[in-house]
Amino acid sequence: MSLSTTTPAPLTTAELPGPLSRDLMARKQAAVADGVGTTMPVFAARAHGGLVEDVDGNELIDLGSGIAVTTVGASHPAVVEAVQRQVAEFTHTCFMVTPYEPYVRVAERLNALTPGDHDKRTVLFNSGAEAVENAIKIARHATKRSAVVAFDHAYHGRTNLTMALTAKAMPYKAGFGPFAPDVFRAPMSYPFRDGAGVDGPAAARRAIDVIEKQVGAGDLAAVVIEPIQGEGGFIVPAPGFLAALADWCAANGVVFIADEVQSGIARTGRMFAVDHEGVVPDLVVSAKGIAGGLPLSAVTGRAELMNSVHVGGLGGTYGGNPIACAAALAVFDVIEQDGLLQRALDIEQLVRGRLGELQAADPRIGDVRGRGAMLAIELVQPGTTDPDPALTKAVAAYAHSRGVVALTCGTHGNVLRLLPPLTITDEQLHRGLDVLADALAAAR
Ligand SMILES: *Cc1c(COP(=O)(O)O)cnc(C)c1O
Repeated sequence: MSLSTTTPAPLTTAELPGPLSRDLMARKQAAVADGVGTTMPVFAARAHGGLVEDVDGNELIDLGSGIAVTTVGASHPAVVEAVQRQVAEFTHTCFMVTPYEPYVRVAERLNALTPGDHDKRTVLFNSGAEAVENAIKIARHATKRSAVVAFDHAYHGRTNLTMALTAKAMPYKAGFGPFAPDVFRAPMSYPFRDGAGVDGPAAARRAIDVIEKQVGAGDLAAVVIEPIQGEGGFIVPAPGFLAALADWCAANGVVFIADEVQSGIARTGRMFAVDHEGVVPDLVVSAKGIAGGLPLSAVTGRAELMNSVHVGGLGGTYGGNPIACAAALAVFDVIEQDGLLQRALDIEQLVRGRLGELQAADPRIGDVRGRGAMLAIELVQPGTTDPDPALTKAVAAYAHSRGVVALTCGTHGNVLRLLPPLTITDEQLHRGLDVLADALAAAR
């Protein structure tokens, strides 16, 4: 029995995109640079919890959270209240001019929430890419070395240094060079493609071998890695891979940077994805889920590394904006008070159950993977590991036409990823998954 026959598949009987969205898309095309793509041709009017309402009054089920940002749910009442309170007090003074308490409180919270009980410091920025860049600035300054290693399938942002760190040429890098120098790439642990012969420690030895031969530890400032890769395909490295890399970094004076921009802040059922592996990074980068949709990012790490930078060497006009900080403090409270770490694990159980059923009956689903509410299926040609990006595109397009916000990812564009807000209801989740099941059936 397919669950899809027990619940109504279309979430909306209306045609998507509706007339108002179509008008707006025409205006977007006339006013906004083509380089800014949109996943769906539908314009949002408002969003609450796990639902997005479009300008034509259609309700969409949100399995994307605006790319892992509205983890506590869109417009969570506690975030709305905190933002409204702060916006009426002051919107900006610049922390580097006249500092304010919310910034300090966010730093205190992150110092306590990030792995390890060593002495820590935090610095706040606006975007994920900006924070990754600053983590590398700090690592270079502290070590007086220049080289940086990133991994296959990595995504770290769209600024010049983070483009260099990002692996995928199209669409992120093509035509945008020259890129920042002294960035090297090492092989990632990718269990689905490595096969059983390459366990976590073996994959780490493979990566370390490349690093030692092609870079040399003596010139290496930092290794930067997503503990679960995001845009690159929701790749969860084999157990022991991260720990072995972190150990090698510690033994060689190399700063181990965890880019937790997508995987952090309760998304995987722990505050940070490295917590699942018991790994303590030297520097942790947070962003996306941290402030309920307001732009905020952070680097948190060992006090002696963070404080190695001279006064004035870190900062920015807007970094740690007070409204964004107020939102982040509300997000930390909501995660605790609403039990969202456990909720992420419950979502994993529900979604894995459904995806596992689908996989058992469908050889096109090569892999089901992820942690917590960061889950994905990798679609392949049956009986092989050959990627099937066309199928992936078709499944996503079908979901979009039925009012489900679903995202794809992966170096080969063949991974369908689920990032629901943790406050989504089971019923909404089931309805979204019903549509994905229908989409796979329709694409046969
Ligand atoms: C999204 C993302 C970034 C970049 O964040 P922006 O806020 O878009 O600059 C960096 N690293 C990872 C892992 C991401 O998912």
